[in-house]
Amino acid sequence: MEIEFWWLLALPLFFVMGWLAARIDIRQIVHESRALPRSYLSGLNFLLNEQSDKAIDAFIEAVRIDPQTIELHFALGSLFRRRGETDRAIRIHQLLVDREDLSEEQRLQALEELGQDFLKAGLLDRAEAVFLRLRGTRADDRAARYLLEIYQQEKDWVKAVDIIRELPAHEDSHWQREIANFYCELAVQALADSRFEDADAHIAAAIAANRACVRASLILGDIFAAQGKDEEALEAWKRIENQAPAYLALAAQRVMDAYRRLERVDQGQTLLRSWLERHPSLDLLDELFHWEIDQDGAQAAYELVREELRRNPTLLGLDKLLEAALLTAPVEHRGDIDLVKQLIHSHTRKVARYRCDTCGFKARQFYWRCPACGGWETYPPRRTEEFDLTP
Ligand SMILES: [Zn+2]
Repeated sequence: MEIEFWWLLALPLFFVMGWLAARIDIRQIVHESRALPRSYLSGLNFLLNEQSDKAIDAFIEAVRIDPQTIELHFALGSLFRRRGETDRAIRIHQLLVDREDLSEEQRLQALEELGQDFLKAGLLDRAEAVFLRLRGTRADDRAARYLLEIYQQEKDWVKAVDIIRELPAHEDSHWQREIANFYCELAVQALADSRFEDADAHIAAAIAANRACVRASLILGDIFAAQGKDEEALEAWKRIENQAPAYLALAAQRVMDAYRRLERVDQGQTLLRSWLERHPSLDLLDELFHWEIDQDGAQAAYELVREELRRNPTLLGLDKLLEAALLTAPVEHRGDIDLVKQLIHSHTRKVARYRCDTCGFKARQFYWRCPACGGWETYPPRRTEEFDLTP
């Protein structure tokens, strides 16, 4: 009986306490929302409207009013970096890293942001130091990827090979193409210093990583040629026809130079003609064209290009034909031909580019690594016009 009576008294008391607690909660929320600086909300608004200048001003104001706000510092820091103001981003993230009231998660995040600031500012040593600190943490995988980017920019291919082997496979690939290219880069460096044995070892490692590595065959030929072994060099370059014939264009000039040194230019021309027959390519045609003029005269060169243009009607081929026509035409017609040639040429300059398969970046020069997206072997070794005609 006594307990029930006590309950009767206690029930209203609990109601009152609950009501008070709710009031306190509401007051707390109202207080907090007032504490959130108005400038923070307007900063957010500017950010959503992609007005980063005004957003930064508003966030700076918010940070001034409430210097404790960690999230605001993060927002401001990444805004600065995105706008290319890396020194300001670095200062903010450095301050965050040094703060004692950060949780472990926030400290890792601040370090990662700082590393990205250094990377964007081109301070590769400092970026490397930061990402090395992140190894073994929860950010390990991302840190390894940033380190890979740093080593590629530094052209430190040994470290690049080491770190890429630690990364998980991507899209069914175990990075064979990248690893082979890193070894090719090492081989090119060794070759430049005439360290032929080292260069050979790197090429062997490249082929072990990726048997289909065309670049390794090209460089292997270069290594032989640099030692005066032109026959061996030619064997290496000829192998490309079985590997990936589209890349023969990159070997054409090397092949002709070797045949010239061997004083067997006619054999080189025969080889290039057979390649051109089987694997039409404007760069192959271009190389052969110059040798035809040199060896057999303008008329032979003209016939070669005309035959090729019939097989593969392209603007670039027409450009070449006009060049040949100019050499063989009677003097009184040359002015007109030259005029047409100049018109065509202004067009062909646009289509005579290489284009990255991944990001579409166009370049006059062939790259093994795309300067825009950083992909390896993303440039098909064909001009964009050929590429458009024969996808
Ligand atoms: Zn690209």
